[in-house]
Amino acid sequence: MARAHALDVCAPRARIRLVVDLNRCQAYAQCCFLAPGVFELHGEEALWYDPEPDPAQREHVLRAVASCPVQAIAVEWPERTDDDGVEAPPRRSP
Ligand code: SF4
Repeated sequence: MARAHALDVCAPRARIRLVVDLNRCQAYAQCCFLAPGVFELHGEEALWYDPEPDPAQREHVLRAVASCPVQAIAVEWPERTDDDGVEAPPRRSP
């Protein structure tokens, strides 16, 4: 059921996965200010991040992703197959 699928992905409980391209990251720390529990700078250049942040942090995380000046943060969105509840491989953006 496509409608239920869309609602499920948009639901706050949907868990997203993050991948930061550390070669692209320039340690501007925008993400750290917007989602401090998920992104942290250690020293001046070492970025630590939680690749599977708590769904309660999702809004902050998405703002952090959007704010990255070099678009170093990719989001993998969970997908489900119909009504069986089996998760398919995640989509990735950007
Ligand atoms: S906002 Fe982007 S460039 Fe800045 S620390 Fe975060 S991932 Fe790195």
